[in-house]
Amino acid sequence: MVRRISETSDIPKDDLNVRLLYRTLGVFDNMAMFARHKVIPTKWVLELWHHPLNEMYEGVETLRKNAREKNESSAAELWPQLWILLDKAQSYHSTLPCCPPDNSWRGRIRRLAAPSR
Ligand SMILES: [Zn+2]
Repeated sequence: MVRRISETSDIPKDDLNVRLLYRTLGVFDNMAMFARHKVIPTKWVLELWHHPLNEMYEGVETLRKNAREKNESSAAELWPQLWILLDKAQSYHSTLPCCPPDNSWRGRIRRLAAPSR
């Protein structure tokens, strides 16, 4: 769902899906906190999640902008730990075959995430 928001910038209107999105991003924020405090190695998190994190970046940004505009939270920044992880994932390159040696997948994700307008 977050990836679809990345592609379309359309945020679900129904409460169930909005709550599911916020709960999911809360779990990712927790995972980012565990990585930041070295409970789990950040490299392991990035090795497993670098592509999904990159694919969801624009969607999370859209949700953050929407929440700011609607004053949905008293927090100055939503998912503050997740942003650190999302930024690290942007420059992460795995030695596994998921990342081509020439980084050509990055342009593909950017094109998928670009708003269609
Ligand atoms: Zn990869």
